[in-house]
Amino acid sequence: MAKSDIEIAQEAKMQDIFEVAEKAGLSRDMIEPYGYTKAKVDIHSLADKPRKGKLVLVTAINPTPAGEGKTTTSIGLADAMNRLGNKTMLCLREPSLGPVFGIKGGAAGGGYAQVVPMEDINLHFTGDFHAIGAANNLCAAMLDNHIKQGNALGIDPRRIVWKRCVDMNDRQLRNIVDGLGGVANGMPREDGFDITVASEVMAVFCLATDLMDLKERLSRMVIAYTYDRKPVTVHDIHAEGAMTALLKDAIKPNLVQTLENNPAFVHGGPFANIAHGCNSVEATTTALKLADYVVTEAGFGADLGAEKFLDIKCRYASLHPDAVVLVATVRALKYNGGVPKADLGQENLDALEKGMPNLLQHVSNIKDVFGLPVVVAINAFPTDTPAELKMVEGKCRELGVNVALSQVWAKGGEGGEDLAREVVRLCDQPNDFRFAYDLDDTIENKLNAIATKIYHADGVDYTTKAAKQLRQLEEQGFGGLPICVAKTQYSFTDDQHKLGAPRGFRITVRNLKVSAGAGFIVALTGDIMTMPGLPKVPAAEKIDVTPDGRIVGLF
Ligand code: ADP
Ligand code: MG
Repeated sequence: MAKSDIEIAQEAKMQDIFEVAEKAGLSRDMIEPYGYTKAKVDIHSLADKPRKGKLVLVTAINPTPAGEGKTTTSIGLADAMNRLGNKTMLCLREPSLGPVFGIKGGAAGGGYAQVVPMEDINLHFTGDFHAIGAANNLCAAMLDNHIKQGNALGIDPRRIVWKRCVDMNDRQLRNIVDGLGGVANGMPREDGFDITVASEVMAVFCLATDLMDLKERLSRMVIAYTYDRKPVTVHDIHAEGAMTALLKDAIKPNLVQTLENNPAFVHGGPFANIAHGCNSVEATTTALKLADYVVTEAGFGADLGAEKFLDIKCRYASLHPDAVVLVATVRALKYNGGVPKADLGQENLDALEKGMPNLLQHVSNIKDVFGLPVVVAINAFPTDTPAELKMVEGKCRELGVNVALSQVWAKGGEGGEDLAREVVRLCDQPNDFRFAYDLDDTIENKLNAIATKIYHADGVDYTTKAAKQLRQLEEQGFGGLPICVAKTQYSFTDDQHKLGAPRGFRITVRNLKVSAGAGFIVALTGDIMTMPGLPKVPAAEKIDVTPDGRIVGLF
């Protein structure tokens, strides 16, 4: 039987973190070790160092609910690039405990393409998410305290938009009533929790360019409205200094290694729906100063993840990507071709062909809308048949789409060399990178650009509520921000059942809100869960510890 991810990870011969740091060109005095195989990096001394690396984004077609291997492919690609003598660093998101204990399991790669120590990375790691939760909850405590202590700002307790958070899938906390117990115990009100990765503090953390920018962004966050409907910010309750103090270590990128001992930053992890879904700007820009190539991943499919990476993160951090890897799997193509989840393990060339338009539309979006070169990485699964793999590769070649078979899950870096060679080739070509919309356009036009150019919708409709919010946001001066669309990851449309590359549909925006600190307008197209629940049989039921302290059952 094939070894599980955790068995492979626990057999890894990890190097001392100082050795890994040296490979990345980081001097000893910049390394703050957390044990022997993890470290925070004090990047202060790199502030003026120019960025020299080429930036490679790994994204994917619309996935199946199991995930299509973006993280796995990113890690394997970075190992393959290093095997071929290209100095490459990896930048990934930190996993959230919610999915680890829920359905998805760990998020540190899979098979022979993993970052280690995988148990640590998947569990408490260096405590960043706990620090982010603490900063978020400090703000909540100060806000409610302000109301209790006389409410000088005139905050309307019914219009508080700030929630407490915890990094757990705990639906019981979605909607609560707190402040019960009489005058001494606060002001009773309806409240609720988000999962930590859905908090605006997380999004701010990941977009901040340095500690002072972090503080500045925190101070701008809107937490409530007054009785006369004026926004109240973190700065109004004087919380930004203490919140930044709680985050001053967390904001330093975390250094770990791949199974093949190559350096990787794993830092920050915002949701890919109500936030932008990629690792911290600090990690990416630092890696670009150290390595010749930087491989990074954006969450969900390319319609959400790549669009936000390019239109939000790259815009704010002045990043210029050099190549895009689009991960496709045989099972996701069959899923997009109409095969139900339960039958994805069986060969089905017809469905595979029917699913191809999904892949091709993502390819043309990256090339034609964003002006970037792209290669399709077919992430080979043990269940794929040779005929299926041949067909995907053949179809791509027939249509002039760059393609490489990736076997990094089974073989590690060696299985990604073809992909790596193609990525290096694409990075050597000049490109004409551009955004999907201009910032100074109206919110409506920006949303329209995303919907028509990326999703291929006919247009955007607004509910009465959203239309009113649109006007309010423009009036409050937030019209110049980029847009962060919260939409199902399974479809180009806002209906998760419309697979493939649909035409003749419209997108409905139901809710618009500002994340003023992160610096984007969130456009919600459906009910987006910001506090997930656990499934009937949570992954947590299988996780255990042996008497000698070894973790088992994590996948
Ligand atoms: P994503 O980043 O796109 O969500 P991951 O890389 O986390 O996807 O992979 C999702 C799951 O699929 C993980 O459990 C991983 O081990 C597994 N997986 C990824 N690629 C393969 C493969 N080629 N063969 C088998 N399992 C794979
Ligand atoms: Mg991933």
